[in-house]
Amino acid sequence: MNIYDNLSKLGEVLKDEPISRYNTYKVGGSADYIFFPDSIENLIKGLKFLKDNKILYKVIGNGSNLIFSSKPYKGVLIKLDKLDDMRINDKEVYVEAGYKTIKLSNKLSRDGYTGLEFATGIPGTIGGAVFMNAGAYNSDFKSIIKSVTFIDDNGDIKTLEGKDLEFEYRNSLFKKEKKQIILSTTVKLEKDNPQKIIELVESRKIRRIESQPLDYPSAGSVFRNPDGNYAGKLIEDLGLKGYSIGGAKVSEKHANFIINAGNATGEDIKELIEFIQTKVKENYNIDLFLEQELVNF
Ligand SMILES: Cc1cc2nc3c(=O)[nH]c(=O)nc-3n(C[C@H](O)[C@H](O)[C@H](O)COP(=O)(O)OP(=O)(O)OC[C@H]3O[C@@H](n4cnc5c(N)ncnc54)[C@H](O)[C@@H]3O)c2cc1C
Repeated sequence: MNIYDNLSKLGEVLKDEPISRYNTYKVGGSADYIFFPDSIENLIKGLKFLKDNKILYKVIGNGSNLIFSSKPYKGVLIKLDKLDDMRINDKEVYVEAGYKTIKLSNKLSRDGYTGLEFATGIPGTIGGAVFMNAGAYNSDFKSIIKSVTFIDDNGDIKTLEGKDLEFEYRNSLFKKEKKQIILSTTVKLEKDNPQKIIELVESRKIRRIESQPLDYPSAGSVFRNPDGNYAGKLIEDLGLKGYSIGGAKVSEKHANFIINAGNATGEDIKELIEFIQTKVKENYNIDLFLEQELVNF
């Protein structure tokens, strides 16, 4: 059983790749293999091969919600970059998992579609956005998704309507079960005045630039907001802005962001997360839960 030979018949395969190239924190060890299936059919064949041979794998999008450890990943990271078709049919848009969320949001906003303006600052893929029910400004993917097509645990292609996908605040059926692979979604949007939409998008862009440390590697908000409170406010009130462990630092600009201030490791980020959780618990008796995902620890 040769992993490279088997998978390279089904798409591009890279061996011993630095994981830091595939996540927005820019951390991680090396991955034995990164596999870019060149079609849905070949993705299904690749998954069957990996499962039959009990090889560790994980599908990732843009790695913009992930914290990788420094350990080597002894398996296959799957990236769906080549599944990136997008088609507009009146007010419905079919888009595949590998398409970039910001690109979609910008394109549809420019074309006069309203409903996806909230996503112009979410630097992931559509697969990751559906998995997380990504959102901002009191809106999220739940509010626009008509249906999602995915590969289930048996390798079969299924489609479910949005209402059956258990979407909640940064949560979905996919996140709860972790056994499906999202292939595509169809979203429903409305038409509106393009000028009005662009103005909204531009004003949000300015707000993000002003409030988020976009000049450093990060993975967005670290913690979920506790009921009736803001994680960033709790952390800021404890004076933790600027606090660092190794190369991981609580952003001076937004306390719910940890940045890689230079040579941070996933272990530094994890240690800083645990430190913040302990301090918030000690001072406010509030449990902060991670919005980001630790991988390969
Ligand atoms: C500067 C910055 C700002 C951000 N702002 C926001 C924000 O406003 N709102 C917000 O919600 N998030 C935000 N994020 C976090 C992140 O961008 C989103 O959670 C995004 O949707 C993750 O997408 P991704 O493709 O990078 O997924 P990844 O981080 O690569 O993966 C996340 C999870 O999804 C799973 N996954 C990915 N693709 C698939 C697939 N095709 N099938 C099955 N599972 C899959 C992965 O296995 C993993 O468990 C921000 C991040 C950064 C760096």
